Amino acid sequence: MAAESIGQGSHRALLFYKTAEGGAGVLQRLVEEPEAMAEVARAALEICHFQLLEAGIQDLRPKCGAACYEGLLSYANQREVLQLDRHQIRNLLGKLAHSRTELRRLGRSRQEQLEWLRQLIDPRSHLERRGVAGRRRLPPSQRRPEGHP
Ligand SMILES: [Zn+2]
Repeated sequence: MAAESIGQGSHRALLFYKTAEGGAGVLQRLVEEPEAMAEVARAALEICHFQLLEAGIQDLRPKCGAACYEGLLSYANQREVLQLDRHQIRNLLGKLAHSRTELRRLGRSRQEQLEWLRQLIDPRSHLERRGVAGRRRLPPSQRRPEGHP
């Protein structure tokens, strides 16, 4: 997996994408496994030299400033070096490390979601028909706005 900063101003965002064909199911795991995001956050804390304790978060390397090559820096993120600061993400990662991910599909049951998706299928698209009919896991519900013809 890789991430890239995209957009500017209020439209800034992080784009996460798979780097291997077919992927290893990482994005899917992050959405579907309740503990996966917390695991990622705990790993990120470690990379940033922080240790998660019952009583809070301990800095294992106080001499490391904002970032170093043993932590956040890499040759791939040279342009962002002045924006990287492990102390800025410490508390957010701490919260995420205790989080659970819950998949929500606008309050619909699986069957209701499937029916809703079937209504959105473009009848000219064999791929869409096959995609909804043949999947064990349903595609994301936010693909089109509610009530879209
Ligand atoms: Zn460091």
